Amino acid sequence: MKLILLGPPGAGKGTQAARIAAKYGIAHISTGDMLRAEIRKGSELGLKAKSTIDRGELVSDDVIIGMVKNRIEAPDCARGFLFDGFPRTVEQAEALEEITEIDRVIDIEVPFSRLVERISGRRMCPDCGAAHHVSRVDGGRCPDCGGALYQRDDDREETVKNRLSVYERKTAPLIEFYLQRGKLLEVNGDAPIDTVGAEIFGKLEE
Ligand code: AMP
Repeated sequence: MKLILLGPPGAGKGTQAARIAAKYGIAHISTGDMLRAEIRKGSELGLKAKSTIDRGELVSDDVIIGMVKNRIEAPDCARGFLFDGFPRTVEQAEALEEITEIDRVIDIEVPFSRLVERISGRRMCPDCGAAHHVSRVDGGRCPDCGGALYQRDDDREETVKNRLSVYERKTAPLIEFYLQRGKLLEVNGDAPIDTVGAEIFGKLEE
């Protein structure tokens, strides 16, 4: 099973990706998480990517495609995988077609007016990777595992607007790209987490 999760920043891709990957026993591949891991390691790639990410721009297609090509060779991808945050440009999607065939693309749609509030209120858990909205956490601790929540540098309001504009220009055309290939499943992301999850599983199993 090879899946892609598409949708703007703040649509809930990471949250749903973790559930889908757990249910089907497939690898959850977040290119954003991979880049943040490189930044934490202080690798050359991480150092180069940090300023791009902090401006809300996209890391170059070559770097991302190289990373993904390597990643899907890992043993945990044998049963399949789910991309979260990749591809983000038509060039990446075309390169992916040369590497492997994708079964389905799940597009999580959330009205644009809701996204700034969702992203700038997002807090991340460094221990379990979960995202929580600031209005639903008490004392800055992760409700799932107790980790000390933090805000991603690129989730600050100044960067969020640029990320959304980059999404519109560079990533949203992928909706049409996968629609034409008959792979697109559209899901309403402006609903409680379990409702969105149920719609995804329902459509995948149809
Ligand atoms: P994410 O965690 O998916 O929101 O990604 C955080 C940031 O990492 C993005 O705003 C980009 O700067 C960079 N990034 C992640 N995935 C990609 C990708 N597929 N192509 C280009 N840049 C990416």
